[in-house]
Amino acid sequence: MVGSGPSGIYAAEALTRQTDVPVEVDVLDRLPTPFGLVRYGVAPDHLSIRGIRETLWRLLRNPAVRFLGNVELGTDLTVDELRRQVDAVIYTFGAATARRLGVPGEDLPGSIAATDFVAWYCGHPDAARGPVEDALRSARAAVVVGVGNVALDVGRVLARGGALDHTDMPEHVLSALDACPVRDVHLLGRRAPAHAAFTTKELRELGKLDGVAVHVDPADLAPHPVTDAVLAADRAAARNVDVLRGWATDPDRGESPINVRLRFFTRPVEVLGADRVEGVLVERTALTPDGELVSTGERAVIEAQLVVRSVGYRGVALPGLPFDASRGVVPHERGRVVRDGAATLGEYVAGWIKRGPTGVIGTNKADAHETVDTLLADVASGALRPSDRAHRGGLADLLADRHVRVFTLDDWRAIDAAEIALGDSRGRSRTTLATRDELLAAVSSHQRIG
Ligand code: NAP
Repeated sequence: MVGSGPSGIYAAEALTRQTDVPVEVDVLDRLPTPFGLVRYGVAPDHLSIRGIRETLWRLLRNPAVRFLGNVELGTDLTVDELRRQVDAVIYTFGAATARRLGVPGEDLPGSIAATDFVAWYCGHPDAARGPVEDALRSARAAVVVGVGNVALDVGRVLARGGALDHTDMPEHVLSALDACPVRDVHLLGRRAPAHAAFTTKELRELGKLDGVAVHVDPADLAPHPVTDAVLAADRAAARNVDVLRGWATDPDRGESPINVRLRFFTRPVEVLGADRVEGVLVERTALTPDGELVSTGERAVIEAQLVVRSVGYRGVALPGLPFDASRGVVPHERGRVVRDGAATLGEYVAGWIKRGPTGVIGTNKADAHETVDTLLADVASGALRPSDRAHRGGLADLLADRHVRVFTLDDWRAIDAAEIALGDSRGRSRTTLATRDELLAAVSSHQRIG
């Protein structure tokens, strides 16, 4: 497996659980720690979803599975070199970057991709702290572009500010959020409420935050033949709109110390500012009777010092592996990597790099199982023959020759213990170690003690 997020670990589980073909699985990750987006993507205040880490940890402890962290394919070894060491590779390295918004000003200081903001608040070792903390310092108003679940995560984290001590966020993240003067968080959806990508459970959470009022303009919920048809056919969309209607018509919902404003039919035209973000020029959209989204020509400026662009993740090409640049995925047939129009043997994909950045964590289980079924079918048909060249020593020797400091499961145990101890010292259940140096120090001190 290349990637130790949910897809890689679920694929490892599916492979080791079957008994027809004996397998040993190495799970590589470019980061020193396992669990991918469960550690570095799921919002830290979503404690139950983050709890999936316990399940992934149990699966990773399987004796037939070996974790090799801090190993970057494409840097420490090439795709070709890896392929020579093992019988089959399943690429599960996700979608590491952000989609572009494509408007002028999107790279101004103070305009941040949600992927970077999320990496920062989760304590990702490669997160750039400066640009985020700098923008937060003066952010009285923030605009979050997009109305998916990540936009809700970002909006909620901004609105909760100092009330996140119960999470495992790093200390510097808590301090920066606590000191952030934000009073207004605008979430922009370019289409109708019925078209929003978020899910109802996550939407409802916004309405339950202490000291936070959610505002929705009743005009955005006006009947329209196109959206009425969506609501009749899509129960999830209808549930979302019920929640939004409740907020739009609540007579008691006045201004609060912090206000989240969900604005639909609103598309960003330009991020404004001389040398840093000062606002967003937006344009009102409308749906034609045919369902086409058009501009009304009505424009307005939303004053803001922080813009978070939450318009989706995007997969990144890996040298030596085919890539569909238009979709940001590796081309495949039922999980089998397609090279030059033909499916290859021994190379597979699962998760976001296979299907794009969609679905919840559980979606990756079924997706990984489909890929493993394909791999096993290739073995059963005789097309893919396990060879005795696959032995675990080869890969370890190669990495040792290149002086790669491989992180093992014992190293993760040490990091885990250090994070719990650090949290405990501050009355918290865990505090994430946010830099490679801190992660390495946790491992070294553990080795000295042990
Ligand atoms: P997403 O669900 O695809 O949402 C992207 C949002 O960006 C949509 O509202 C989309 O609007 C909008 N957008 C795209 N291009 C735009 C543009 N040029 N201008 C304005 N708006 C634009 O992506 P995501 O929020 O990053 O989430 C990724 C996946 O992770 C999703 O499957 C999500 O459900 C999942 N996730 C789940 C949880 C959870 O379960 N709690 C938490 C976080 C993420 P249009 O529809 O108009 O394109």
